[in-house]
Amino acid sequence: MRIDILTVLPELLDSPLNNSIVKRARDKGLVEINVNNLRDFTKDKYKTVDDYAFGGGAGMVMMIEPVYKAIEKLKSEREYDEIIYTSPDGEVFTQKMANRLSLKNNIIILAGHYKGIDQRIRDHLITREISIGDYVLSGGEIPAAVIIDAIVRLIPGALSDEQSALSDSFQDDLLAPPVYTRPAEFMGWKVPDVLLSGHAAEIEKWRHEQSVERTMKLRPGLSEE
Ligand code: SAH
Repeated sequence: MRIDILTVLPELLDSPLNNSIVKRARDKGLVEINVNNLRDFTKDKYKTVDDYAFGGGAGMVMMIEPVYKAIEKLKSEREYDEIIYTSPDGEVFTQKMANRLSLKNNIIILAGHYKGIDQRIRDHLITREISIGDYVLSGGEIPAAVIIDAIVRLIPGALSDEQSALSDSFQDDLLAPPVYTRPAEFMGWKVPDVLLSGHAAEIEKWRHEQSVERTMKLRPGLSEE
């Protein structure tokens, strides 16, 4: 899988893409992630990527030309399955979307800034718009990092124990059961006996019951969402 990010602030992506599971997946060659600086696609000496909004009003708008040129260059090199724009008014990101996106070969993620991007980019170049939730952030880099993290951990081999992605929340429309580690007792607070029993089938049954209970209590409508 290959992911290309288009951004005016590459530094914002340094840490999330170079640590933990995403780093390991990149090191193993499971995913290639390229951060493309939109300023490299400008033509003036100030490397301008934004301009005033037509019609007036506060805030700058990301210009179409650098984005167009960057996308055209990438598309001339390979085919892309999706060209995603991160946007507060996009489709809200879910585990199901992450599952589907993790099966793609090549995707572009455009991170917006300022008041947003020239609408013509959205109308003509973007294939999908994703929001990470109903709130407004300053830029699309953190949303891009969120989307990438969720996708990359699903690629077979990215997690050391492949099963563990399958037993996470939202897979099978259930929340994950509680987990515990040593010590078995702390300040008089005990770990449930069944987990110490060594009885695999009983443990499996208990975990499933806990998942169902937790889902009913915290997210009763989850299976219909
Ligand atoms: N004026 C816009 C917000 C611009 S915020 C509006 O009201 O809709 C600047 C950039 O941050 C956006 O272009 C987008 O790429 C990113 N962004 C902000 N909030 C986001 C969210 N919840 N999900 C995804 N991207 C978001």
